[in-house]
Amino acid sequence: MATFRNACGECRYVTPWLKESEAERQIVDHYARRHPHLVPGGAQQINGGGGGGGCVGCGAIAFGLIVLVIIIGLAGQK
Ligand SMILES: [Zn+2]
Repeated sequence: MATFRNACGECRYVTPWLKESEAERQIVDHYARRHPHLVPGGAQQINGGGGGGGCVGCGAIAFGLIVLVIIIGLAGQK
């Protein structure tokens, strides 16, 4: 079972390794307390426990595809 943690994008706060829903709740909590005027952001890290169905790298692949689509879209505009 993979565990997740979220790193704050504004300060150096990082949640402990938790279930995804718990980690999300903690970073939202942190933002509510420390950065109340900001939308929760930062980075999520995945600790894929033994390759059970974790997909480390899927995010990077998806991001690459999105960038590619944007580039193609921009190139097609004339
Ligand atoms: Zn913070």
